[in-house]
Amino acid sequence: MKTKKFDYLIVGAGPAGMFACYELLKRKVDGKTIALFDMGSRLEDRKKSEVMTGFGGAGTYSDGKLHYTPKLSHERTFHLIDPDDYQKILDEVEKIFADFGVDSEYFPKNAEEVEEMVAEAERNDVELVVRKAQHVGTDKLKEVVAKFQKYLLDRGVTLFDKTEIVDLIVKKEEAVGVVDKKGNKYLGNRVLLVPGRVNAAWLQKIGKKYGIKYQYDMVEIGVRVEFPRSVMKRYAEALYEVVLKVRTKTFDDVMRTFCSCPNGLVAVETYPEYICVNGHSLSDHLSLNSNFAFVCEVHLTEPVENSIDYAESIAKLATTIGGGKPILQRLKDLQRGRRSTWSRLKKSMVRPSLKDVTPGDISMALPHRIVVNILEGLEKLDTVMPGINSGSTLLYAPEVKLRSSKVALTPAMETTLKNVYAAGDAAGVSGSITGAAATGIMAARGMSKRKT
Ligand SMILES: Cc1cc2nc3c(=O)[nH]c(=O)nc-3n(C[C@H](O)[C@H](O)[C@H](O)COP(=O)(O)OP(=O)(O)OC[C@H]3O[C@@H](n4cnc5c(N)ncnc54)[C@H](O)[C@@H]3O)c2cc1C
Repeated sequence: MKTKKFDYLIVGAGPAGMFACYELLKRKVDGKTIALFDMGSRLEDRKKSEVMTGFGGAGTYSDGKLHYTPKLSHERTFHLIDPDDYQKILDEVEKIFADFGVDSEYFPKNAEEVEEMVAEAERNDVELVVRKAQHVGTDKLKEVVAKFQKYLLDRGVTLFDKTEIVDLIVKKEEAVGVVDKKGNKYLGNRVLLVPGRVNAAWLQKIGKKYGIKYQYDMVEIGVRVEFPRSVMKRYAEALYEVVLKVRTKTFDDVMRTFCSCPNGLVAVETYPEYICVNGHSLSDHLSLNSNFAFVCEVHLTEPVENSIDYAESIAKLATTIGGGKPILQRLKDLQRGRRSTWSRLKKSMVRPSLKDVTPGDISMALPHRIVVNILEGLEKLDTVMPGINSGSTLLYAPEVKLRSSKVALTPAMETTLKNVYAAGDAAGVSGSITGAAATGIMAARGMSKRKT
């Protein structure tokens, strides 16, 4: 077991950790040393199956949709920063991505057409959210991340890959370092915790152990919807990312589409105790199908406020029923209250892009309220996206977004434990690549400003 000393310790090499390092280097931290830890591999050793861990984090093999309008998950920082100042940081993130080779076209393409689409949605009691975005594509994004890794390493950042940090070293109520799984110690008086969604539960555990304050927030639970690409074509061409919000008839809950992948593929995310579904597109756009997440916002109030536990227990149940694989069901089968089988799935006009699934019954895995919301929500969406409510539409479960441990932070992104900062998805202040990147920059600024 060894002990090493650095000035800045950054746990997690996802977008939040990468941009925090970048900002610290930019601020010329005067010979101060930066250690960047990731439980996964450095980029060149990272396998395709390692979707959640390794340099670049969940961003590396993601679809690479980059959003630059401070809406939706970006709003999760607004208790810490003025929206106009946040926009300036997002603009910087955009410029940094461009410097590392992102040159994809911008959405929305035609403002007039988009205005009419917004109006049409309004007339049907549906909200269409419009944001400035670029789509990089999974394959191209990896090149961008490779340049980013090289940039950081060339400038002296020490990357400890395959190094899982398991604990903090705390003395007199302030953090003075971290410990890895093998017992090696790394001393430093600024610790940034950015472990992403894959390890949000670990951040909570650390929080409980050291009295770092946090509050539960909403989670989103639902399905990944796959359909012929023609169904979403109009939206994809104008906006690329389609965020449509509806309120459901029976429960008056909000259901929304997000993470839409035009001509994309459905993917699996593997967590230690369960699996979830997600989606991505390659930049060549060859798939005949498109997909998006269709999820229901779940806010829990006392006495059961731990929405992470609730969402994870649903994901575990779905994983059990799917035999360790995502459950796939044809919408017509769900509407008729029967399970899907491979022979019933063959009757669908949509060929599943993810084959390693278990045909089954989503209503056996998701709570009744969410299943009703999915059925009613798709009906409503069909008014602005004809064809989405067709019997051939495919539903994959579980699609679960955990954003519920919102760490209590100062505007400098410091937690209630001295010297410990947090950012990115695990801290509950972002839910996207650009959001995580922006909060990483905010944390770097906070850390570098504080006097030792
Ligand atoms: C399949 C998929 C597709 C997506 N598509 C998009 C998209 O198109 N656009 C978009 O904006 N967002 C997308 N997202 C979400 C986006 O990737 C995340 O919001 C973003 O990566 C969060 O950044 P982060 O830095 O907070 O965490 P992460 O990217 O999750 O990175 C956290 C890193 O920390 C490491 N880590 C965790 N715990 C420890 C520990 N204890 N010790 C050491 N290392 C640790 C992990 O290995 C990981 O590399 C997608 C996500 C997935 C899974």
